[in-house]
Amino acid sequence: MTRRCSKMVLIGLDGVCPEAILRLIEKGKLPTFKRLIDNGVFAENALAPYPTITPPNWTTIVTGAWPGTHGITGFWVHNPGEPLDKTHCAVTTDFCHADYLWDAAGKEGMKCIIMNYPTSYGANPPGSVVIGGSGLAINESGVGLEEESSEKLICTVCNEQLFATDGYARAATVEVVGAEGWKNLPQDAGEAYEVALPLYYPDARVPVAERQTWHLLLPESDGIYERAVLCKERDYDTRLAELEPGKWSDRIVEAFETERGRVEAAFKVQLLELSDDGEVVRLYFTPICRLSGWSVPDDAADELRHVEGLPMPGSRLASYSLGWMGPDAHMDLYDMMHDWYAAAAAKLLRSGEWNMLFMHAHPPDWLAHRILNESDELINQDPESLRVHDGMMTRCYESIDRMIAKITDAAGDDALVVVVSDHGTAPKGNGFPLRKVLEDAGYLAHKDDGSVDWSNTKAVPQRVCYVYLNVKGRDPSGIVEPGEEYERVRDEVIDLLRNYVDPKTALRPMALVLKREDARVLGIYGDIIGDIVYALRPPYGGVHGQRLTTAKRGTASLNPLIIMTGPYLKKGLRLKRNFWLLDLVPTICHIMELPVPEHTEGAVIHQALEDPDIDRKGREELKRDYEELLRNYNSATLGGV
Ligand SMILES: [Zn+2]
Repeated sequence: MTRRCSKMVLIGLDGVCPEAILRLIEKGKLPTFKRLIDNGVFAENALAPYPTITPPNWTTIVTGAWPGTHGITGFWVHNPGEPLDKTHCAVTTDFCHADYLWDAAGKEGMKCIIMNYPTSYGANPPGSVVIGGSGLAINESGVGLEEESSEKLICTVCNEQLFATDGYARAATVEVVGAEGWKNLPQDAGEAYEVALPLYYPDARVPVAERQTWHLLLPESDGIYERAVLCKERDYDTRLAELEPGKWSDRIVEAFETERGRVEAAFKVQLLELSDDGEVVRLYFTPICRLSGWSVPDDAADELRHVEGLPMPGSRLASYSLGWMGPDAHMDLYDMMHDWYAAAAAKLLRSGEWNMLFMHAHPPDWLAHRILNESDELINQDPESLRVHDGMMTRCYESIDRMIAKITDAAGDDALVVVVSDHGTAPKGNGFPLRKVLEDAGYLAHKDDGSVDWSNTKAVPQRVCYVYLNVKGRDPSGIVEPGEEYERVRDEVIDLLRNYVDPKTALRPMALVLKREDARVLGIYGDIIGDIVYALRPPYGGVHGQRLTTAKRGTASLNPLIIMTGPYLKKGLRLKRNFWLLDLVPTICHIMELPVPEHTEGAVIHQALEDPDIDRKGREELKRDYEELLRNYNSATLGGV
């Protein structure tokens, strides 16, 4: 059939709040965002389900279903009946019970590209290409992890590495010595020095079987050391890169022997520091990024082998916070990721038939977790620190702006464009010591080794916003009797949390504390959530997760970003009504004339449409045509008698 719109790109930006975008546009930055907002619909009251967490909300965005319906109720999920401290990292489609938009579209013969979309691991609609999806970036994965900690999203081949003569946390300390036993040294190497670089492959998901030691040669010229040569062996002919301080190498591609076979991977290095006397050296390796193994079909990765940037894992990038490098070099890493997403998406859009692109970039959220407080003018009172960190956030958004421009360019003018975030982020505040509060009140007990003493525990926190009672017959070591005792203990714990007053601030940290049944108003329900659901109010809570979507702090909010532009949409509309993330799927389906996925609960945002009545008018026109046809037929038939 001919559709009124047959192409859509959905560009996901993790943790972006609308205020941040508008503020930068006001300063004359972000031309692509400005163009999209001027030509499309911008939701002033976009709302995200609770908890304001990545996997549930990205799943809501592509199913149109509440987390209670699709089943992903946290970064981690808990299966009823399993021990209360057992959870599973919710990065695969196995945990989702709702139909995805890409499946509904696939059944209609549409071709989908799903790229770095969180929780899409396992997706495979007919004719589609799936790139990554098992973590928050390519080459990282949380598949199969059962221990609740986002630090566990681990990398292929490995995370970033630093080799330095001065001691740095998580770095290899190295020594500069006179170069000896080198082959093929050029005449002009002078009194060269060398540094042995024992690669240490941090955070490797699959261990590297053959650990290599590479070598850095420091040639001397007129008594000065101002460049370096990275070599695989003490042989100048094995050189991988020639380095000058402060400049990135070209992309280096090498093979690594892992415990699951040989893989090819790309990375860049930068000589961050080299003293004139050659005695102080600091050499940085980006994560070593596998060039295959993360696409369905397998050979889709081959097509992306040579695209610009790096398919880099990012969850554990800490080179700025560890003091390894300054803000500029660190922000270059996010540019490399955005460049890769833009180039990979553009290549796939230009090289084949496609109808829908779903992609996501995580850097704004990672940065928010690390530096949002420092970059917020209402929170950070130190002007120099504010300047540096605001500059970093701005650079990240500018990099994203360029990425969106490249992708929308490749998609063409007739495509529906959706730019969306899963939740906003606002400066973090105090934590709430939930474990201690429960312990002090006698509901939670620990053994001497720090583990939970289940035989004396009635209530225990789990995941981001839940408290579970330890219920007999339901939980493996349950002690709370179902029925009367359950209700009594639950009421006591709810009262305890609601009435808790922080002795330091005299504030009550809880925005709400609800029984499981009452949490249905938040869109979470059933036995996949805690017996008690709570949310913190600012200043309490992290940048997102435990705060409601309407929470605000500093200059930012937890509201997600929603911009839509393209055919059949109003132009330059600042939409005032609520726009839930779950309204995207039905609105997209309406514009593209697609069947709505089975479990979708959101609704079409009629107010965003140029002509909300288009379908009814179409039906009436058909009816008129049919009646006229019938009249003509009848008069022709009767006339013939
Ligand atoms: Zn997120």
